[in-house]
Amino acid sequence: MTIEITSKIKEIIRRNYNVKSFRLEIPAGAPDFKAGQFLSVSLGNDPQFKRYLSISSSPTEKCYLEFTKKLTESSFSRALDSLSAGDTLRIQFPFGKFILDESFPKIAFLSGGIGITPIRSICKYAVDKNLGIDIVLVYSNRSVRDVVFKEDFDAMVKSYPRLKVAHVLCEADPGFKCRVGLINAGVIKNEIPDYEQRKFYLCGPPQMVEAMYRILSEELGLKEDMVVRENFQGY
Ligand SMILES: Cc1cc2nc3c(=O)[nH]c(=O)nc-3n(C[C@H](O)[C@H](O)[C@H](O)COP(=O)(O)OP(=O)(O)OC[C@H]3O[C@@H](n4cnc5c(N)ncnc54)[C@H](O)[C@@H]3O)c2cc1C
Repeated sequence: MTIEITSKIKEIIRRNYNVKSFRLEIPAGAPDFKAGQFLSVSLGNDPQFKRYLSISSSPTEKCYLEFTKKLTESSFSRALDSLSAGDTLRIQFPFGKFILDESFPKIAFLSGGIGITPIRSICKYAVDKNLGIDIVLVYSNRSVRDVVFKEDFDAMVKSYPRLKVAHVLCEADPGFKCRVGLINAGVIKNEIPDYEQRKFYLCGPPQMVEAMYRILSEELGLKEDMVVRENFQGY
C-alpha cells in the first residue's frame, strides 16, 4: 500500500550540471520500500506539478530518502530547483516492480543518463547487505559531464569486488576510462561475456530501453523473463 506524506528537504546535492539529488527527512509513519522503487513528488495541488521519480537511496540508508532529478526547462523542474533545505513537499510511495530478484546469483544493468537512479539504489543495497550477487553495470552517457553517481559507484566497486562498472560515452574524454560509442551487442558481449547466465535490468528513457531490449532479445537471444525494464516516461 502506498502512503502520501509531507516531507522536509534535509539536503540538496548537485550531481552534475543539470542533475540534483534531494534528500528528505523520513517522517514518522513512512512506509518501507524496496531498492529500485519510485515515488511521486507533488509541488502544490496542481496535478501538472506532480512527477514520478525513482528513489535513488537504498533502504539501508536510514537517515534520509533521496530522489534525483534531471532538471529541464519545465515549470516543474524550475519549481523544484528553486527549493532549499527546510522546504517541504508531498511524496507518495512506494510504487514499482523494478526490484532485485535475489534468487539470481548474477545480474546485469544496462542504463543511460538519469536512468541510473534506481540502479544506484539497488547496487547500494546489494553492497551494504553484502548479498554476494555478481553485478555488471554498463552505463552510457553522451559525455563525461552527464555521468551521475560516478564517485558513489567508484566507492562501491572498491568495497564490493563482485561489482563491475563499464562506462560508455559518445564523446571520448582523456583521463576517463570508457568505451566510446553506444551500447550494442558487441559491447555487451565484451563487457558481459557470460550474459546468457544473467538476469538483465534496463532503465532509462523509453527509446533507449526499447533499443536495449531489442538487442538482448533479437540479437543475443535472451528470453523475455530474463529482462526487467523501467521506462522513464517523460523523456
Ligand atoms: C517510473 C519512473 C521513474 C522515473 N524516475 C526518474 C528519476 O529518477 N529522475 C528523473 O529525472 N526523471 C525520472 N522519471 C521521469 C520524470 O517523471 C519526468 O517525466 C521527467 O523528469 C521530465 O519531467 P520535467 O518536469 O523535467 O519535464 P516535462 O514537463 O515532462 O517536459 C518534457 C521536456 O519538455 C521540455 N520542456 C517542458 N517545458 C518547457 C519549457 N517551458 N521550455 C522549454 N522546454 C520545456 C523539458 O526540457 C523536458 O525535456 C521517471 C519516470 C517514471 C515513469
